[in-house]
Amino acid sequence: MSSFDVIIIGGGPTGLSTAITIAKNSSLKTLVLEEHSEIGNPLACGEGISAEKLLTLENMPNVSQKKDPLTLKFQEEDSFIEREIISQRFFFGSTGVATSNLNTVTINRPLFDKLLAKEAENRGTNIKLKSQVIGINQKNQNLEVRTQKDIFSAPLVIGCDGPSAHSVQMMNLSPPTEYVQGIEYKIDGVHTDALDFYFNFRDFPKMHYGWVFPKKSHTNVGIVTDTASKPKKVLGKFLDYLQNSNMKNSTIIKEIAGIIPASGPIPKKYCNNFMAAGDAAGMTNTIFYGGIAIGIHTGMLAGETAIDAHNSQMFDEEFLSRYQTRVDSFPYSDPAIQKAHEILYSKFSPTDIETFGSLLDGWNITTISRLQKLILLFKAMKKPSNLKRINDVRTVAYGFSKSRDWGF
Ligand SMILES: Cc1cc2nc3c(=O)[nH]c(=O)nc-3n(C[C@H](O)[C@H](O)[C@H](O)COP(=O)(O)OP(=O)(O)OC[C@H]3O[C@@H](n4cnc5c(N)ncnc54)[C@H](O)[C@@H]3O)c2cc1C
Repeated sequence: MSSFDVIIIGGGPTGLSTAITIAKNSSLKTLVLEEHSEIGNPLACGEGISAEKLLTLENMPNVSQKKDPLTLKFQEEDSFIEREIISQRFFFGSTGVATSNLNTVTINRPLFDKLLAKEAENRGTNIKLKSQVIGINQKNQNLEVRTQKDIFSAPLVIGCDGPSAHSVQMMNLSPPTEYVQGIEYKIDGVHTDALDFYFNFRDFPKMHYGWVFPKKSHTNVGIVTDTASKPKKVLGKFLDYLQNSNMKNSTIIKEIAGIIPASGPIPKKYCNNFMAAGDAAGMTNTIFYGGIAIGIHTGMLAGETAIDAHNSQMFDEEFLSRYQTRVDSFPYSDPAIQKAHEILYSKFSPTDIETFGSLLDGWNITTISRLQKLILLFKAMKKPSNLKRINDVRTVAYGFSKSRDWGF
C-alpha cells in the first residue's frame, strides 16, 4: 500500500486544478486517480466558457504569465482556445432575440484537460490512469482508497469524480438529487459568429435550452433535457429546426453526451478527512449548466484548504468546514441561481418565455441601464397577466445575470 499526503479522485478540470494548487504552493505528495486510460477522453462538454473567468483562474496552464488584462486577449500559445467570441444571442421562442457582449471563448476541451494534467505533473503530482476508485474506508487517522488493483492511503481525500459523485456517496454525504442530460452533435462547418442560446419551450417542451457554439472548423449543437426525456430525439428535432431556419444542412461528425447535476451545491461538502469539489459537489451553474470554471475554482479552494490542513495537522470535519465557508462566499453559490433555475425550468410556460422574449427583443442585456430596466418594467406592467409573474421574472433575470459569468 502506498501512502500520500493528499489523494484526489478524478482527473477532470476540478481534480487537476486541486492538484495544481497543492503542487504550486506546497511540497505535499499528491496522487490523482483517474478511471479512464486518457485524460480528457471521453469528452462530455459544449466547450463554451467565459473568457474573463478563465483568465482570472490562476490554475490555467501558463495563462497568468501571458494574460493581457486590458484586452483580455489570449496569446497564440493558448492552443486550447478555439475562438474568442464577444457576442451572445438569446432566442426566446420566436418572439425575441436579446444579445450580450461578454468575453467568451470556445475551447478544445480534451486538449485543455491534457494541458492541466501536464501542468500538474510538471509540478510533481502523480497521476495514475486506469484507476477506478471502488471504495474508501476509514483506517486509524487516514482514509484508505481502493481501486481494482491497489490500495492507497492518505489523511486527506478530495472527491472530484464528476457528476456521478460516487466518492461523496462512499463518504455517506448527500450527493446531488437532480440531474439533467446534455447531448451534443459536432457538425461540419461554422454556422455562427456568436454563442447562441435557444430558450424555446413551445416547439421544444422537453428542452431546457439549446446551444450553437462555433469552434475553429466545426460547430457544437447541443441541448439540455430532463432525465425522463429521450435526448437524441429532442436534439434531432432541434437540429432540423435550425436547418429549416438559419443553418445550412450539415453532416454530424460526432455525438457526445453526459449528465449534469441540477440540484445546486450539495448541502455538506466535507466530513472527516474528506472534501468534495466541482460536479461531485453539485457545483454547476444551473441556468446554463456549465461547470468548468466553477470546478476549477472550487478545486483551488479545496487545494488551499488541504495545504492549511496539513500545515495544522488537522483533518477533522470541524477544521475542513472552512472549505465550505469559502465556497459559499462566491457568487456561484448564491441560492438565487437555484431559485431562478426552478422558476425558469419548472414554472415558466411557453407563453411566459415568449413574453420575456418580446420584452427583451433587440436589447443588449450587458449594457442595460436603470432607466431601460424601468421602461421594461413599465412595458411588462401594461399587460395585467404579467403582473403576477413580475417577481418570478425578476428572480430569473437576477439568477441569469449571477450565473452567466461562470460558464455555459
Ligand atoms: C453535454 C455537456 C455539455 C457541457 N457543456 C459545458 C460548457 O459548454 N461549459 C462548461 O463550463 N461546462 C459544460 N458542461 C459541464 C462540464 O463539462 C462539467 O461541469 C465539468 O466537466 C466538471 O468538471 P469535474 O472535473 O468536476 O468533473 P468531470 O469533468 O466529470 O471529471 C471527473 C473525472 O473523474 C473521473 N472519475 C469518475 N469516477 C471515478 C472513479 N470512481 N475513480 C476514478 N476516477 C473517476 C472521470 O473519468 C472524470 O475524468 C457540460 C456538460 C455536459 C454533459
